[in-house]
Amino acid sequence: MNRDFVYLDYAATTPADPRVIDAMQSCMGAGGTFANPASVHIAGRKSAAIVADARQKVATLLGTEPGRLIWTSGATESNNLAIRGAAMARANRGKHLISMPTEHKAVADTFRALAREGFDVTWVRPDEYGVLDIDELAAAIREDTQLVSVMHVNNETGAIQDIRAIGDLCRARDVLFHTDAAQSAGKLELDLNDLPVDLLSLTGHKFYGPQGVGVLYIADRPHCNVLPIMFGGGQEKRIRPGTLPAHLIAGLGTAATLAFAEHDQDLRHVSALGNRMWAGIADIEGLQRNGPAEGGYPGILNVGIADIEGESLMLAMEPVCVASGSACNSTSGEPSYVLRALGRSDMEAQSAVRFSFGRMASEGDIDIAIERYRFAVDHCRSISPVS
Ligand SMILES: *Cc1c(COP(=O)(O)O)cnc(C)c1O
Repeated sequence: MNRDFVYLDYAATTPADPRVIDAMQSCMGAGGTFANPASVHIAGRKSAAIVADARQKVATLLGTEPGRLIWTSGATESNNLAIRGAAMARANRGKHLISMPTEHKAVADTFRALAREGFDVTWVRPDEYGVLDIDELAAAIREDTQLVSVMHVNNETGAIQDIRAIGDLCRARDVLFHTDAAQSAGKLELDLNDLPVDLLSLTGHKFYGPQGVGVLYIADRPHCNVLPIMFGGGQEKRIRPGTLPAHLIAGLGTAATLAFAEHDQDLRHVSALGNRMWAGIADIEGLQRNGPAEGGYPGILNVGIADIEGESLMLAMEPVCVASGSACNSTSGEPSYVLRALGRSDMEAQSAVRFSFGRMASEGDIDIAIERYRFAVDHCRSISPVS
């Protein structure tokens, strides 16, 4: 265990499970299964078998068939490929696309790029908890709408969208439905044989797999396909070229099997930690919870205090690792656009702290985080008394 810091930033990335590391190690070096899976020789065939096995493991996790899965470098690439690829594949039928302002940048900025290239994008706003109103989505769908993209679990607030209801609506209106499941895959149950989802993105490192590998699921339905966005070798059905990284794929496969087997235990664990954290800070004066108080993913807890400046709060939290206003915005210093879309002011958004919990975090970690957060709030109030 790392003793230099207390890690409560699992929504940014998770440490790899030791069993994932073992699987990856067996692929590396001259004694390992390192060969190019596309090579026809015996070493290549061994790598291809590793890839096939991992594909089956991810398929089992998602309740689908291995043939539906495309390996990518992570959810960023899966989102780009799903959205741009589907928009291009269906451009001759119409150019209207729908998403939400609370999406991850990998989704939102892909739509913005398409808007600059002549597509027409409608942004459906969430309610104050970050949840989509299905009637507003229904009203936004037009004759020429081709694609709706709404994430499953929000990475900043833990808000969960009703992807079954969204998918049912999209199917009834002959629109493709993509969901960014980077924060839910391996954590919440996903049964794609049953769910009306056409395209789904996930990434290994949000559920104890390695960074740099992900999956795009493409449903086997008429008019559900994506055009490639990169060109090269013929890998992955000519949809996504590039030599497959057998070690990363083996790690992701193992992470999928672990998540499938330990799902209940993982969920109970993060719920207990989240509840403990909330119980330890809820009485702080002026504390606001960002996102749903109930019904969200229990592994994410986002709180803010309007009269406190986010950066000094983060510094005073050391050595507890949490995310500020937004993990992705923390270098830009901009208040989180996700929290702004929930109606929070710049000040409120800037003071936000996201605690996120996972498999290797302990109750002791939570107790340290509670103590540090309370200390940090008092400290910030003492150096800049607002009232
Ligand atoms: C982490 C994350 C991504 C990006 O995943 P990468 O593996 O960094 O490409 C996309 N969407 C959401 C919701 C995420 O949490």
